[in-house]
Amino acid sequence: MTEEWRRRCPRLGHEVLFSYCLGCGMNGEPCLKTADCWWEQFDVVAYLKAHFSQETVARLLNPQPQPKITGILELIEQAKRNAGKS
Ligand code: SF4
Repeated sequence: MTEEWRRRCPRLGHEVLFSYCLGCGMNGEPCLKTADCWWEQFDVVAYLKAHFSQETVARLLNPQPQPKITGILELIEQAKRNAGKS
């Protein structure tokens, strides 16, 4: 299954499942880097369009520059989720 594919996360520095990327962004949305990270493995844009709203897909494909603090908070959220999994 696509959701079980793995790759090394450039933000966390270790392997993650695609399913993780789909829910680790702010408010449980996909990570803003999902399209950037997965486009070489498969048609991730088609996957996102099939599974998420137009607004979410537009946000993922045209991410606005985030203030540094937002990126830091997102990384903290990711780290907390990872800590809960081990
Ligand atoms: S989409 Fe986000 S969480 Fe997934 S590998 Fe890329 S940076 Fe890491």
